[in-house]
Amino acid sequence: MLTQNTRNYFGTPSLRDSVREKRKSVVPSGRRLSAENILENRRKSIGMAPSIANIERREINIQPHQYTTDPTVAWEMLKAKRPVKRVIQMKRDTPVRAEAVRFVCLGCTHGEFPKEVPQGDILVISGDFTTCGLPKEVKAFNTWLGQQKHAYKVIIAGNHECTFDEQFLKTNTNVTDPKEIALKQALVASIASNKLTTPKPLITNAIYLQDSLIELFGITIYGTPWQPKIDSWAFNLPRGTTLLDKWNQIPSGVDVLITHTPPLGHGDTLRNGQRVGCVELLNSVTKRIKPKYHVFSHIHEGYGCTSDGYTKFINCSLCDENLQLANEPVIFDIPVHPHTKQHYLNNVKKVMKRFTKEKK
Ligand SMILES: [Zn+2]
Ligand SMILES: [Zn+2]
Repeated sequence: MLTQNTRNYFGTPSLRDSVREKRKSVVPSGRRLSAENILENRRKSIGMAPSIANIERREINIQPHQYTTDPTVAWEMLKAKRPVKRVIQMKRDTPVRAEAVRFVCLGCTHGEFPKEVPQGDILVISGDFTTCGLPKEVKAFNTWLGQQKHAYKVIIAGNHECTFDEQFLKTNTNVTDPKEIALKQALVASIASNKLTTPKPLITNAIYLQDSLIELFGITIYGTPWQPKIDSWAFNLPRGTTLLDKWNQIPSGVDVLITHTPPLGHGDTLRNGQRVGCVELLNSVTKRIKPKYHVFSHIHEGYGCTSDGYTKFINCSLCDENLQLANEPVIFDIPVHPHTKQHYLNNVKKVMKRFTKEKK
């Protein structure tokens, strides 16, 4: 969450074809293959020469914007060339179909638990599921995840998951604020009292992505928690080259991108009209990555769906600026072959087991 003044501490056609081609040999991978492997296999299966992907990767080189530190100004310069269309959300009671994977997206619950979550195949959570990442909060969240009926749950951390960012917890010489040092020490102690060094192992009912990729139902999903630096929070990085280095790790052509921060221009406006999204993320998404869906939260005021004509942008923050659950989860469908879908639904345990094994 980012507030204006104060901070609270505490299916694309190609995809369908690709799946159809693969279906005879499809295995429930759920494996965290290297990004290159997954995308290369996809490209091969749709008959695209591998070299095209490599050329594309080399040629599209995003540069930091000259006004990267002033996103409102950067947007004024860019907006004429960057269409933003409002998108009407799918009705949450739309029946789940055998020939499509239903995504259910929510983020920024800040320790609260929505009572009703629409049914679907993959529950996506785009960070800020706790107030500060205390192990007891993570355990409660994991229990809630276990109660949700979605076959797969894919989550990323947000700036409020302080304990998920090992760098943040270090009280090095740059940290001089006694309150901040005390908070970090308390968080480290709370993890240690659970005989852990990170709370990540407490997430047993979901796939946790951090600058990593997974393939489910033949759909590639990439998750990354970083956001432009705000005060002292987890996963903070300076705007410009440093953040761009993180976005450069995202492979071109992923189907669903999950970030905590919005890009510039989509779901990133504060109440006072100020824009706070990341211009390098916008440029990376629209010029190079080109996902079908980009899911994020963080800017609670920016809840809703927009499109640039190709990518659909989804700000799925459930909490409003006052940290009250005010919004509904957002759903969308990606077409897949029914056999592929059934295969993944029949093998959830196997896929999750393999994922957990490879994580170790
Ligand atoms: Zn946030
Ligand atoms: Zn938030």
